Amino acid sequence: MKKTIKNYCFNATQSKINELHEITKRYTSVKNEVFQRYGSVSGLQYLSYPRQIRDEWVKTKHAKKFGLQARYWKQAMEESFFTIESNWSNRFSRVKKNIYKNKNYTKDEKYYAFYLIKATDLLHKVLTFQSFNLPEIFKEKDIRRDKIHKYLKNRIRKYTGKKPHQYKQRSFMIDEGMYDVDIDNNNRLWLSVMGLIPRQRIRLLMTSKESLSGNIRIVLKGNRVEVHQTTEIETKDFIKGEARAIDKGFSEVITSSSGRKYGEQFNQLLKTESDRLSVKNKNRNKIRGLLKKYEERGDIVKTEIIKKHNLGKKKYFQQKEFNLNEIKQFINLSLNQFITEEKPAVLVTEDLAFTNWNKRFSKRVKRYFSSWLKGYLQERINYKTMLNGVQQVVVNSAYSSQVCYLCGLFGIRKGDKFYCDIHRVLNADYNAAVNILARMSDPGIGVYTPYRKVKDILQERLRLSNQDSRYSVQTGQSESERAEYV
Ligand SMILES: [Zn+2]
Repeated sequence: MKKTIKNYCFNATQSKINELHEITKRYTSVKNEVFQRYGSVSGLQYLSYPRQIRDEWVKTKHAKKFGLQARYWKQAMEESFFTIESNWSNRFSRVKKNIYKNKNYTKDEKYYAFYLIKATDLLHKVLTFQSFNLPEIFKEKDIRRDKIHKYLKNRIRKYTGKKPHQYKQRSFMIDEGMYDVDIDNNNRLWLSVMGLIPRQRIRLLMTSKESLSGNIRIVLKGNRVEVHQTTEIETKDFIKGEARAIDKGFSEVITSSSGRKYGEQFNQLLKTESDRLSVKNKNRNKIRGLLKKYEERGDIVKTEIIKKHNLGKKKYFQQKEFNLNEIKQFINLSLNQFITEEKPAVLVTEDLAFTNWNKRFSKRVKRYFSSWLKGYLQERINYKTMLNGVQQVVVNSAYSSQVCYLCGLFGIRKGDKFYCDIHRVLNADYNAAVNILARMSDPGIGVYTPYRKVKDILQERLRLSNQDSRYSVQTGQSESERAEYV
């Protein structure tokens, strides 16, 4: 499984951004020169050892014209050769298929053709009409060399398209020696990237604290700087543990059917950010009103000042993204904690798309986060279960937070408490999680059982259990009496 981790730069100065753009431009021109020179048949002779071009460029000082530090143009060269190589390997596999199927050639002749495809410097000679000695191992064999050479020329020409070319100047790759990372006293992560001038690195503040390693790609989108890191991750074998269900906690990220809660104070985090956004947006609206007044009056100076200093979008969006990343990290940390601590073999969840979280969030939190949060949480749960070899089961969660997991009675959920007439007060999230877990093996309630039918089934079960008189149901407790047990 391959995964690209994106990280973002926070508030880079214009001069740093300009320098990054300049590096991108020069880096791309190296790539295009490599494509232009070695992107077709002429590159074949170097395919087995591309480094000889590098050495050549150093020796002849050819690379000087790009105005990049050596590591940069070497990296660009390596990247474009990687593209060239994979283009060739696509062509070769198509040609090989043709040879396999062809009935005009003997076994030895086919073997000779495959041999040439592998020995790319010989193949280059074939394609450019140069003569060469027949390799030793074929000396004793009866091979129609001209025929094979002609066939290879014809096939390879057929599958060779245009030389590659990089049109967009948008990104460049750097290896571990070209950057370093450090954390400052305020616990912020800084990335220092090799610049155009030796020993003067470009220092960038990152929005996430997740550290970087290996090859990373700097991606520029206008004045936005992103850092991408691709990592190959292995999915683990299915772990052998118990089944667990999770529910979105009333104030935490999740509550497990084990009773443990992960990501406490999560709702507080959401509230803080939505309150901040609300105030910010209110102010911006006020300023917009003011701006309109000045515009109507034709006060150009004042409108320009307001636009520039009070309604700038850059800082506003950067802060928003920074805070959103914190929220994301919080969610990921909580889910990781859950998986490493409980090691569930099966994870049972409700279908978040149909889940109503109205009661768990204030109006403001809902306005800013509710639709985003569900999608994100769902995606993260899918991802992390797959990564850790946890089998995921989605169940019908209708009424799972409205019936008591101990006796099946319908109760009342209020905040993080659940009130059952027999069992008085339970933790509402825990109650729901246990009910969700039970749905996995419920014989009567499947994923597609309609909401109303679920209620009928639950009531019928209750009726039957009352007949058994296993439970004596007491009713008529007042709200204040219940509160005593909180
Ligand atoms: Zn109960």
